[in-house]
Amino acid sequence: MNILVLNCGSSSVKFQLLEMTKEQVMAKGLVERIGAGQARIKYKTGTDKIVREPAEITDHTTAIDYIIRMLTASEQQVIESTDDIDAVGHRVVHGGESFAGSMLIDDEVYAKLQECIPLAPLHNPANIKGIDAVGELMPTVDQAGVFDTAFHQSMPRTSYLYALPLWVYERYGVRRYGFHGTSHRYVAARCAELEGRDPAGLKIITCHLGNGASVAAVDGGISLDTSMGFTPLEGLVMGSRCGDIDPAIPLFLQREENLSAEEVDSLLNRQSGVKGLSEGEFIDMRDIEDRYFEKDPRCTEILEIYCYRIRKYIGAYAAAMGGLDAVVFTAGVGENSPITRKLVCDPLGFLGLELDDEANDAAAPGSGFEGRVTAADSRVGVWVIPTNEELVIARDTKELVEKQRR
Ligand code: ADP
Repeated sequence: MNILVLNCGSSSVKFQLLEMTKEQVMAKGLVERIGAGQARIKYKTGTDKIVREPAEITDHTTAIDYIIRMLTASEQQVIESTDDIDAVGHRVVHGGESFAGSMLIDDEVYAKLQECIPLAPLHNPANIKGIDAVGELMPTVDQAGVFDTAFHQSMPRTSYLYALPLWVYERYGVRRYGFHGTSHRYVAARCAELEGRDPAGLKIITCHLGNGASVAAVDGGISLDTSMGFTPLEGLVMGSRCGDIDPAIPLFLQREENLSAEEVDSLLNRQSGVKGLSEGEFIDMRDIEDRYFEKDPRCTEILEIYCYRIRKYIGAYAAAMGGLDAVVFTAGVGENSPITRKLVCDPLGFLGLELDDEANDAAAPGSGFEGRVTAADSRVGVWVIPTNEELVIARDTKELVEKQRR
């Protein structure tokens, strides 16, 4: 079975075609700058990479059509026709309270996705455009939605309710949803597998540290709590998002600086975090890290603030779960930054966690490292596990399609 996985953003489409018997990636890539006059497509198979800048990509349908043509009719084609695509799995950002798991997209699910647009006004419309485009280009193919929020639907009310007047939740669904669920779910399950233990008996804290970043408390295989909230703004210090702040600050800024709601939104989401602390100079953690090693005081402080926030969440979630067996680091920073893991973990000896510096340093960029980076007698294991959201989307899609065909 071949599954096409699509991750549609407002101006980009990322894709992977997976052959599911061996779970192998046949081709992958992305189309970016959709509708901006000059799109760019990067297309990669096992052997080759193609980069093109076609002018005609004006929307998601033309982008996905171009991807299909690359897959079926380019010099690097990997299949003969769309008949060789058995199903399409979409990453969908927000499933609200409707979806606690992945779903085949039928009329009812499609309607619910539209109902979720107010909760993710930037993301869900792009995901829906991708679903529409596939419906147009491959009308008979099964499509599934895999939701960033679904894994966290197991959170109890004590984790997800904010202490606002209850009508704010009841009228508008304002509550903690959490994101990166597909990644947290994958790495927590993989950690249990690598530990050779039943997930039901494990208390795991998963740290997804990419451009956006979140921590989750995974207790017995299910999400008990997570740091992103009603939107992906809450929680950790991120590339350009502030994470946790006193909620009175936006109101103060609105008054003192005469800012509109949109301007405050932009300040918190696009001008804060690492970018804000570096006065707009850096957003990429590699730049911060390089300067940390050069003893640049500002970047040292930024990395320390970044790591301190992660450490606070680890402490909080160990308390929330009443114990801790493992901490997992994943995504761009989590997988590639030994210094971040060290600054987070070294002060956590009191939790029974002792990093093995050599193993930690071995989990470096380009190593593809997957494994434990703690000393043999460390009670709590620290793991570096490369995330693989596309694989989870493909597996879920395959399972749903097979169940339907049975
Ligand atoms: P997203 O999918 O959220 O865009 P990724 O998971 O790809 O993000 O992570 C992107 C982040 O990972 C960037 O901030 C980038 O700087 C960081 N990153 C990648 N490689 C390294 C590295 N070697 N050291 C530190 N940070 C890294």
